[in-house]
Amino acid sequence: MAEWCSFEGIRLGVEPGVVTGGTTCDRVAGILGEYLQAYESDWSGVAELRTWTVRVVAERPTQGAQPGKFFAGETFWDSRVIDLYQGSLSVLPHEVHHVALGPPSADHDGWCSFGDWEAREGILQELTYLGCSE
Ligand SMILES: [Zn+2]
Repeated sequence: MAEWCSFEGIRLGVEPGVVTGGTTCDRVAGILGEYLQAYESDWSGVAELRTWTVRVVAERPTQGAQPGKFFAGETFWDSRVIDLYQGSLSVLPHEVHHVALGPPSADHDGWCSFGDWEAREGILQELTYLGCSE
């Protein structure tokens, strides 16, 4: 990681390519803090997140990326790490929801109300990805 900082008490690291792209850890922290506040104001707070690390990556990592699928974010329960692609910071609430629900949430079963909330808040449109009607 090129820089470390934090948002809402959560450890945040940004890769070198993120910084050379012209932003700073603090600026990314400000954006992620707003997404987390939006999540926690409408869904139950995820206190556990304060023991997690969020990493913002410049390129897609090898883990989690599948051929033909755009990498946006990935939650790693074992290492308590969330990776976010730098161009997809709005996927944070999605990954936070995975942390809140635990590993069984990997199949996104029953996530339509969450997808509706994301769309309503203007955070992310992923109802099709989640297999829900729009
Ligand atoms: Zn997911």
